Amino acid sequence: MEGKIQDLRDDELIELIHKIPKSELHVHLDGSLRLQTLIDLAKKESVKLPSYTVEGLHELVFKDKYQNLEEYLRTFGYTCAVMQRPEHLERISYELAIDHQHEGVRYVEVRFAPQLHINKQMDMATVVSSVNKGLLKAQNEFNQRKEVANGSEPRFYYGIIFCALRSFGPYSEYYSNFIDALSYSDMKTICSLSSLELAKGAVHIRQELGLPIVGFDLAGAEKGNPAKDHWRAFQYAHGNFLAKTVHAGEAYGPPSIFQAITELHADRIGHGYYLFDTSKVNGKIKDKEYYVQELCQYIADRRVTIEVCLTSNLQTNPTLKKIEDHSFKQMLEYELSTSICTDNRTVSKTTVTNELMLALRSFKMNPKQLKNTIVYGFKRSFFPDKYSKKRQYVRQCIDYYEKLVKGTPLEV
Ligand SMILES: [Zn+2]
Repeated sequence: MEGKIQDLRDDELIELIHKIPKSELHVHLDGSLRLQTLIDLAKKESVKLPSYTVEGLHELVFKDKYQNLEEYLRTFGYTCAVMQRPEHLERISYELAIDHQHEGVRYVEVRFAPQLHINKQMDMATVVSSVNKGLLKAQNEFNQRKEVANGSEPRFYYGIIFCALRSFGPYSEYYSNFIDALSYSDMKTICSLSSLELAKGAVHIRQELGLPIVGFDLAGAEKGNPAKDHWRAFQYAHGNFLAKTVHAGEAYGPPSIFQAITELHADRIGHGYYLFDTSKVNGKIKDKEYYVQELCQYIADRRVTIEVCLTSNLQTNPTLKKIEDHSFKQMLEYELSTSICTDNRTVSKTTVTNELMLALRSFKMNPKQLKNTIVYGFKRSFFPDKYSKKRQYVRQCIDYYEKLVKGTPLEV
């Protein structure tokens, strides 16, 4: 199978992409449930769904294209409704890890907002322990395979990322109680306090229970909800050596990305789609071109990694008409550290393999660019063990990659 990547047929390329060791650094648990599981659990818990068949849900809820971000986000109301018991969280997490393993993902960081799942039966520690139980079970099963156990193939690892929300309403029992309890505070204050509480939970639960909580994230609507409102929470996470990633530049411009890195100490950026958009640089900055250039250099030099989610951006951003216009093109030109991610497997109807195919085809990536993206995913992961072990693991994944692509158009 020699020649150029672009000469390969889709099925040939998919087969190769499937095999190579991959990471997934940006996937939301509540956006990635198997639909049959959602249906099973909804029936069990008497949760009302617009349809109880997979086809029906595809037609009415989990669509190929969404009208706007609101419609996209509405899907999470259905999934979170069935994620309110320890055994359901465990099952969903287990299945998510298995689905990743089936497409050759060796390392996954699963993120979710624990405060959406806290209720009378589950405190924060129970929520995260349940998720961990499912992931750990899948990890152990995978790592018992002969070729993995004897070291000829890389192991499967995972980390857990806590998401704080830029804004929220009474989305869950916990958030409702939180809002009610702080009756003299405005929503900005309430949001910032709930983030701080979550950061404290992450640090304490990680220490006390030894769970692989590897990172802290800020998700949700960017516009009107600046990252710096969550400064205390991120300062706390930072001060306790928790890694940070922030959704930024998804719906707002370069200054939002700058703020995430400088004020919230972000090691990675979720999306970063508007990084190059000078029209989204605010009025006070006179030379907008210069600002964006400098910001890109800064991000490149610090190796701040961008978690790129192509399909998700296409679905929620009405100004992005076709994937070829995505700023990933410029990210490649600037040689930024990027990793291709799904964001949400079910809500965006995609997989890591699918997203890599999309990136390869739409941006005519060469073998070196593909390899870099894959390697950054492992290198810039918030690996849940010692640095020496991480280095060993990354090395093993690179060696395995090189072995698999040898003699194919993916060879560098
Ligand atoms: Zn996301």
